[in-house]
Amino acid sequence: MIVTRFAPSPTGYQHLGHAFAAVTARDAARGGRFLLRMEDIDLARAKPEFELAVYEDLAWLGLHWEEPVLRQSSRFDAYRTALNQLDSLGLLYPCFCTRAEIAAEIVRASEAPHGPEGAHYPGTCRNLAVEIRAARIASGAPFALRLDVVKAAASVGPLSFVEEGRGPTGEHGTIAADPLLFGDIVLARKEIPTAYHLAVVVDDAYQGVTCVTRGNDLFAAAHVQRLLQALLDFPAPHYAHHRLILDAQGRKFSKRDKAATLRELRSRGETPQTICARFRN
Ligand code: GLU
Repeated sequence: MIVTRFAPSPTGYQHLGHAFAAVTARDAARGGRFLLRMEDIDLARAKPEFELAVYEDLAWLGLHWEEPVLRQSSRFDAYRTALNQLDSLGLLYPCFCTRAEIAAEIVRASEAPHGPEGAHYPGTCRNLAVEIRAARIASGAPFALRLDVVKAAASVGPLSFVEEGRGPTGEHGTIAADPLLFGDIVLARKEIPTAYHLAVVVDDAYQGVTCVTRGNDLFAAAHVQRLLQALLDFPAPHYAHHRLILDAQGRKFSKRDKAATLRELRSRGETPQTICARFRN
């Protein structure tokens, strides 16, 4: 049976792009299970009113999902367990760098490799001497946890994932994973004991998701999420990335586009039918 999910971060009102993603994930389940997951790890930005608005908007659109909804803010213990597992494999290191220090180091090392999110982390803290690390931790300096991706990728060997939809440049079928694409990703932020890639992978496995349906702006993430699945011994879900619904300027909708929120469209007299009709264009 197919299990899909829609996994919004409740940090703003839902817009047309979210509605399209939710409806696409529901349809991709083809009568199987459709799950809704609140990606609310960023406790400072995820607001209860936005979460309630997600439920309301999706119900208004005619979607049904299983209860209870999994909220990532209730899953920090599970993320910690996964971090401990990766740490016991010797694949994590504490990173004390500030954003400004990373930016300065990237300028100094002008040949730093780049990925979909810009320059890779230059590796400043990867090779810190054990005593220096211990002293900094003891001094109470805040640190993130990064994955040593070269070491991690070498430990699992070549990986691939199955794309049932399309990536941004038409990627489809069995794709060779490039786990080094983002460099040494953060798996636990300084202020939050997890981070996006880790939480998604842990929860997709926990919820038995068989097909990750989401916008193709997250296609690249599959490369490194596949690595985390392999390291944590999780099954590899299939992926079905879909196109994005864009604004009149061809940009992704953002929180600033109040006019494209489902609330606003609804108040202007749109119905679930007229909204869904927009997706057929
Ligand atoms: N929470 C992410 C977002 O709102 C989606 C994560 C995913 O589908 O993997 O963009």
